[in-house]
Formats: sequence, structure tokens, C-alpha cells
Amino acid sequence: MLDNLTQRLSRVVKTMRGQARLTEANTQDMLREVRMALLEADVALPVVRDFIARVKERSLGQDVAGSLNPGQALVGIVHKELTALMGGDLGADASELSLATQPPAVILMAGLQGAGKTTTTGKLAKWLSEGGHVQNGKKTGKKKVLVVSADVYRPAAIEQLKAVADQVKVDFLPSDASQKPEDIARAALDHARRHHYEVLIVDTAGRLGIDEAMMREIRALHDLLKPIETLFVVDAMQGQDAVNVARAFADALPLTGVVLTKMDGDARGGAALSVRHVTGKPLKFVGLSEKLDGLEPFHPERMAQRVLG
Ligand code: GDP
Repeated sequence: MLDNLTQRLSRVVKTMRGQARLTEANTQDMLREVRMALLEADVALPVVRDFIARVKERSLGQDVAGSLNPGQALVGIVHKELTALMGGDLGADASELSLATQPPAVILMAGLQGAGKTTTTGKLAKWLSEGGHVQNGKKTGKKKVLVVSADVYRPAAIEQLKAVADQVKVDFLPSDASQKPEDIARAALDHARRHHYEVLIVDTAGRLGIDEAMMREIRALHDLLKPIETLFVVDAMQGQDAVNVARAFADALPLTGVVLTKMDGDARGGAALSVRHVTGKPLKFVGLSEKLDGLEPFHPERMAQRVLG
């Protein structure tokens, strides 16, 4: 993922490393290159401006031009700021999925139709039930997981979740298109409590675009379920559009994290940085395949390292 950005930035970094001295002029040149690299990777313009301003401020503050190895110093600053931009500024554990609550820990999936909510619900259920979850750097063991669909608008959506749940061998609570989403949520909570599930993942209806009725509905589900995680699922292929969708969801719901799907496609990676910036929430996972094992926890520091090569 982020290949395009990686290639551009590593080219910039190489020229930077070769500089024995940094002057105001060649610092400017490099910042221009970094800016181009970010824009070409589809990072939203305000995010790029903000990023460049921070790098500039820090490099002036640290007197990069006067340091022993100015090229390296500037690379270091770009690396630090990139890590921060990817969520490293939120703290080391911010990207971890939080389940630390009275069970069942409820995870609410939000996002537009087609973003990958149902697929991600299955991936997450598999990951949790197979013991993938890590808290404070330690594995927390295999979880007993229940999934349910509150998408009553597309009966096929409920069937799709059932098929996905069967595939990953996780319990599925049947719901019905004639039910109200809130009644489904109530029944699921009750079932999960009575049967001692540790995690309940609630898949929700998406719409093709953002609409007020959809936001009202998911807000009501949120009030009822009181999820410990409210994950905004967004398609990385949406590029710049992802920013507007992310903003609308972040305004409507107290999101706790972002899942960026379809990073295996030819997405240029910029959406990852923009969505994190506009929501102020950490990226928690990236989707890397249509297959149900194609989910990877997101690590800001590692990702920044990968981008800079
Ligand atoms: P929903 O409407 O938000 O529930 O979206 P779905 O889960 O039905 O996903 C929509 C389409 O995107 C499906 O064809 C999925 O197979 C595909 N998809 C979801 N996540 C990924 C991913 O990470 N990579 C790829 N390549 N495809 C994905």
C-alpha cells in the first residue's frame, strides 16, 4: 500500500541524504518535492498544506541548516511528522482496538454502501475469534464473537453477512428485513449478554450517498448499543471523495477509529492520510483483499517507515 507515495518520497529522501549542507533554497526545493509527492498520492490539499507547514516550522526551529547532517535531520523531521499524520500523535496504543469493557464489547460498523462494512465485519470477526486482538502489546486470546446485521433495506445484506459468518465460523444472529434496526440491536445485545459473547459486531445499512435519515438511524443505534468501538469503514479508492464522507460521519457520530478498505487496489494511499486528518481518529485497520483474512492492524510508525523506505 501507499506505493506511489513511497516511491515519490524515497526519491526525495535520496536527494536529501546526499546534501551535505542545507540552505534555505534547497530546503524549499525538497519541501516542494514532498508536497508534490503527497498531492500525487491524492492527499487532500489542506492536509498537505498543514503537513508542509509543520515540517517547515520544525526544521526552522531545529536549525536543520546548521546541523551536522542536515539532509538526515530533515528526513527525520519528515518521518516524525508523517508518523504523527498517520496517528502516531494520538499515542502508541491509539490504533489498537479497544475491548476493555463489560462484555459484550460492542463494535458498530458505519460507512457508505459498498465501502466494505460487511466484508470487514467478517474479517474482524475472524481476526478476533482466532486470537488476533492485541492490547498494550499483548495478545488477549480468542474471543467469542457474535455478528448481526441491522441492514433492513437490503435483505441480501443480511444473507451476505450470514454467508460471511459461516465462512469464518463465527456465530450469526438472524435478523429480518421486517424488523426495525433498533429492535435488531436490542435483541442482539440481549442475546449476546445471555450467551456470554465477548464481542458483538453490528453491521449497519449504508447508503449510496450521505443522507440525514441514515445518519439519524445510525445515531439511534449508537445511543442504544453504546459501542466501545464505532468504526468508520471507508473505501480507499474513493480518493478525495473519502474526505467529505469521513467528515460527515465524524460530525454525526462519535467515531473511535477508521478502517480503510481496498488498499490492495490502485488507491494512491492519500486517502489514508486525509481521512485520519479530517476525522481526528486513528486508522485501526486496513483491508488488503476481498478475502476474509485480508485485514491488517494499522501501525502508524511502521507505515511511516515503509513510506520513507
Ligand atoms: P458494504 O456495502 O459496506 O457492506 O460493502 P461490502 O462488504 O459488501 O463490500 C463491497 C465490495 O467490496 C465487495 O465486493 C467486497 O468483496 C469488496 N471489498 C471489501 N473490502 C475489500 C478490500 O479490502 N479489498 C478488496 N479488493 N475488496 C474489498
